[in-house]
Amino acid sequence: MTEPILDIRGVTKRFGALAASDDISLDLRPGEIHALIGPNGAGKSTLIQQIAGGLAPDSGRVLFDGRDVTALSTAARAQLGMGRTFQISALAMDYTVLQNAVLGALGARGGVFRFFRPVMRDAALLARARAALDEVGLAEFEAMRTSELSHGQRRQLEVAVALTLAPRIFLMDEPMAGLGSEGSQRLTGILDRLRRRAPILLVEHDMDAVFALADRISVLVYGQIIATGSVAEIRSDAEVRRAYLGE
Ligand code: ADP
Ligand code: MG
Repeated sequence: MTEPILDIRGVTKRFGALAASDDISLDLRPGEIHALIGPNGAGKSTLIQQIAGGLAPDSGRVLFDGRDVTALSTAARAQLGMGRTFQISALAMDYTVLQNAVLGALGARGGVFRFFRPVMRDAALLARARAALDEVGLAEFEAMRTSELSHGQRRQLEVAVALTLAPRIFLMDEPMAGLGSEGSQRLTGILDRLRRRAPILLVEHDMDAVFALADRISVLVYGQIIATGSVAEIRSDAEVRRAYLGE
């Protein structure tokens, strides 16, 4: 079995009496899409935040590339290669598509105004930004204002921004949320190609996308992983069907 690149060991996080993460262990291996599914309030976003560094677990460890990153900041983890997209967009709406991608490539979102013009002439940054836009099918929209993009195109741009930093893994929290079937099919195609770049831990409610993409699925209910398996295993698991698929 391949060594996991992300290894979550016994992570627990309590909010008062509620265990939002209750001794969760889970890993992500090279080349795979590991989907994390579960009902609203199951603790999916809480877990993603603890992996990315926005929330500190009460106990347990997060190992990334064999290294214990549990005490590192979000920025330090991003620098080590944790790429992520957000449930709520972090794009600058008044900027062009290319400017957002360049800011991503720069690894800086705020306080960058003073340096903006020289940054937009930096050939290496521009090349990296354009390559990322091309990979998500947005190359022809680079001069468009981000506010003029469709919802689906903004999601694609968020993936491109994450890509500019050449991450070693992707953490995605409901990237299909709010997309129609055309948009989610397009994003499904993009994620399918992206897994060759870096494995993806994918929190997603869109079960068509999950079943099309996932190499493994873990099911989270009330802070606990109740099952991990292939698409076929999860689809035929009686407990999962009762707890989540509503059958
Ligand atoms: P999901 O992403 O699976 O919908 P969340 O991780 O957002 O679930 O939330 C899991 C549980 O933890 C929910 O019951 C939520 O209300 C609770 N929760 C999340 N964040 C906090 C917080 N900062 N303080 C208190 N409770 C929280
Ligand atoms: Mg959530």
